[in-house]
Amino acid sequence: MTAVTWHVLGAGSLGTLWACRLARAGLPVALLLRDAARLRQYQAAGGLTLVEQQHTELYPLAADTVAGTAPIRRLLVACKAYDAEHVVGQLAARLAPGTEVILLQNGLGSQDAVAAKIPHARCIFASSTEGAFRSADWQVTFAGHGFTWLGDPAQPTEPDWLAELSASGIPHQWSVDILTRLWRKLALNCAINPLTVLHDCRNGGLQLHPAQVATLCAELGELLEHCGQPEAAVDLHDEVQRVIQATAANYSSMHQDVSQGRRTEISYLLGYACAAAQRHQRSLPHLQQLHTQLVQHLQALGLPST
Ligand code: NAP
Repeated sequence: MTAVTWHVLGAGSLGTLWACRLARAGLPVALLLRDAARLRQYQAAGGLTLVEQQHTELYPLAADTVAGTAPIRRLLVACKAYDAEHVVGQLAARLAPGTEVILLQNGLGSQDAVAAKIPHARCIFASSTEGAFRSADWQVTFAGHGFTWLGDPAQPTEPDWLAELSASGIPHQWSVDILTRLWRKLALNCAINPLTVLHDCRNGGLQLHPAQVATLCAELGELLEHCGQPEAAVDLHDEVQRVIQATAANYSSMHQDVSQGRRTEISYLLGYACAAAQRHQRSLPHLQQLHTQLVQHLQALGLPST
């Protein structure tokens, strides 16, 4: 049986990390790039380069634009949350019924928006602690080894390609409670990342603001309970404190985005939490105030606030 091609949408940090590992395991991979200009740039570069510890390797992977017409049976969506719905919508006609679409986006909200665009496909949600960054165009550095949980809130059966991830050295586990994992990660993010932006500090800098962190954790816990995610609320404050300590020297991803003038995923993190609170008619004043302050801060810097 011929292996199903992994179409990888977005050759950025995570897309490159996944595409190169799948390809070196001998699996068929095809990149889907933004447009003809990006495709020409990619072809001029000769492929994707992955930098891992001291090892740098070029992977000359097949690539096309999202406007291509070849049918897709398996799609890994590796763009930012704010791009996912629109780009997957562009590809909808190329997805055969039963196509599996793996969504690597951080936060919540984009997965449901994508799923609504492609009701004929199976959407699998992922939550990853792996870390990668673009060190140059078409070149990605694998910065932090981690783990990826995958799951489908609509159907608990494991897909048959998990063995391909094992063969590719992608540490993963099928999770029957992927939503709980995504909510927990969202809550950790809401308790840490916006404050690091507003205080302009590394994660460890939040040790100077313990009361602020504690108040946010209490409100986030209340929100999780009301959103039917009580397990995601268990010991949230303890874990937030542990993460702040363990990553004290790091700048959060949101801080990095803001300091480099890049759009953040605010609408899928703190924005999503505040919208959920409103839907459940919960008054969470500190969370709401944090959102308002973050929006004002981004606007003052001329960055998108959604
Ligand atoms: P990234 O490096 O910015 O890459 C995003 C890619 O999507 C870019 O290559 C971009 O293309 C592409 N893209 C955007 N719009 C497109 C379109 N219309 N057609 C085709 N390609 C398009 O982002 P990332 O860091 O990999 O993050 C992806 C998701 O994973 C985010 O939700 C992030 O929060 C999550 N995540 C990332 C990490 C990490 O370590 N990086 C870890 C965990 C989770 P161009 O190159 O043309 O701009």
